[in-house]
Amino acid sequence: MTMIACPTCQKKTEWSTDNVDRPFCSAKCKLIDLGEWASESYAIPQQTSDEEEIFSGTLESDPNKSFL
Ligand SMILES: [Zn+2]
Repeated sequence: MTMIACPTCQKKTEWSTDNVDRPFCSAKCKLIDLGEWASESYAIPQQTSDEEEIFSGTLESDPNKSFL
């Protein structure tokens, strides 16, 4: 049996196929981790705006946008 530390609360939990929330100790910790991950991605607006600028710039300079 393999014991792992829950990434959210660091509680030791058994790595088992019976644990559908692994590597988290519970569904609650899984949701907390997913929520933090989502808010972290929102906290990086620089990267997102750069990608949007490149994308829109490509569309505007695309001579093949006849579908519009
Ligand atoms: Zn946990």
